[in-house]
Amino acid sequence: MKLFRARIFTPVADPFRTDAANSYLAYDDGFLAIDRSRIVGIGPWEQHPAGGTVIDLGREALITPGFFDTHLHAPQLEMIGSYGGHLLEWLNRYTFPTEAKFSDPKHAETIARAFFDELLRNGTLCALIFSTVHFEATDIFFAEAERHGFRGIIGKTMMDRNAPDPLLENAKTSYEQSRELLMKWHNRGLLRYAIAPRFAPTSTPELLERAGDLKREFRDAYVHTHISENTTEVEWVHELFPEAEYADVYDNYGLLDEHTVLAHGVHLTEEELDLLSRRGARISHCPNSNLFLGSGLFRLHHVLDYGVIVGLGTDIGAGTTPSMFAAMADAYKVQQVQGVPLSPFELWYLATLGGARTLSLDDETGSLESGKSADFLILDLQATPLIAMRSERAANIEDLLAGLIFMGDDRVVQSAYIAGREVSRKAG
Ligand SMILES: [Zn+2]
Repeated sequence: MKLFRARIFTPVADPFRTDAANSYLAYDDGFLAIDRSRIVGIGPWEQHPAGGTVIDLGREALITPGFFDTHLHAPQLEMIGSYGGHLLEWLNRYTFPTEAKFSDPKHAETIARAFFDELLRNGTLCALIFSTVHFEATDIFFAEAERHGFRGIIGKTMMDRNAPDPLLENAKTSYEQSRELLMKWHNRGLLRYAIAPRFAPTSTPELLERAGDLKREFRDAYVHTHISENTTEVEWVHELFPEAEYADVYDNYGLLDEHTVLAHGVHLTEEELDLLSRRGARISHCPNSNLFLGSGLFRLHHVLDYGVIVGLGTDIGAGTTPSMFAAMADAYKVQQVQGVPLSPFELWYLATLGGARTLSLDDETGSLESGKSADFLILDLQATPLIAMRSERAANIEDLLAGLIFMGDDRVVQSAYIAGREVSRKAG
C-alpha cells in the first residue's frame, strides 16, 4: 500500500443537483491510500491507516482526479490554430487534407505518440477520441494508447459522402473495418471502441444503417459523433434528411443510447433535447472550439434541465489546446456572457466526475473514492511564481480551484497516475 500525503480535492456528487457543500471532499492535509491499481482510502491525514509507504508531497501539492476530455480528434493535433472560416469551410480547407495524410502509417505513428504524450502532460487521463477513416492509423492510435497506459475510447471515422475521394469509403467496407477494430480493441484493458460516423452530412443512409447494425451487435460499444454545432450544418442536414430533425436522423438508425456521446449540441431544439434525454444520450460541450469556429453559445443549464448528461471536451483541432484547465475556463466564460455564473466546484466536476459519467465510466473512475481505480493527478501549486502567490493567498478550497482553473495549464501537472501506475512526470 502507498499513502500519498498532500492537499486533496475530489468531487463525489453532481453539484448541479446537490448542495455544493455535499458535492466534494477536500482535505488541507489529507491522505490517499492506494493498493496496486485501486484506491483503498481517503481522508484527513490524522486518520491515515497504519503501514504502507508514505509519499509526503507537502502543502504545495494538490491531489485531484484526472481530467476527462469527452471529445477530440487525434489526427488534428498538428493543425491546431488553423484560423478563419466556420465549420464547413474549415473542414474542407484544413481538416480533410490533414486527415488524408494518415494513409501513411509512419505519419500516424508520429502523431499518435505526440498525441498521448500531450494528453498525459496536460493531466487528461481518459478521452473519447476520433481517429481518421484509415484502418491502420486507427489501429496505431489504439496501440499507442495502450503503450501509454491511457484509458481511452477510440473509433475509426466512418464517412462515405461529402468529403474528398481519398477519405471516402463504402458503407460495407466501413462496417467491416470498424467491426474488426472493435473485435480487437473493445474492452481490452483500459480501452473501449466507439462506432464513429463523423456526422450526418458525411454519411449516406446506408452508412448509418451499417453503424446501427454494429451497435445492435455490440450493445456496450460507444457511439461517437457530432450534432448541431453550426446553423449552416443544421440546415444542410435538413436538406440531406428532409424527413427528420438532426437528432432523429441518429435515432432512426438506432444510434442513441446511454453509450452515445454527441459533440456540441449548440443549436438543439427542445424536441431534440427531450429525445436525447429519453434515450440517455450524452453531450460533449466544447467551449474553446465553439468560440474558435464561431459556432455559437452553448446553453448549459437549458440542456441540463432536460436531464441530459454533459461533459467537457477540447475538440482538438478546432479547440486550440489539449488543456482541460482551458476547457473549464472557457466553459465559465461562455456561460458568463449569457449571464449564468458557474462555480469552481461545477467546473471541476464537469472536467472530472461529470466527464466519467458522460462516458459511463463513473463506477470505475472519475473521483477519489475507495474501490475506484487509482487514477489521479498531483498538481504543483508552485508551478509558476504567479500561481504560487495566488495559491498561497487562496481563502479556501473554492478560491484555490478558481485560481487553478483560470491560470493553470500543463506546467501545473506534476505527475499523473492511471490504475496506480505513474504514466507521466514533469521533468526537473
Ligand atoms: Zn469534433
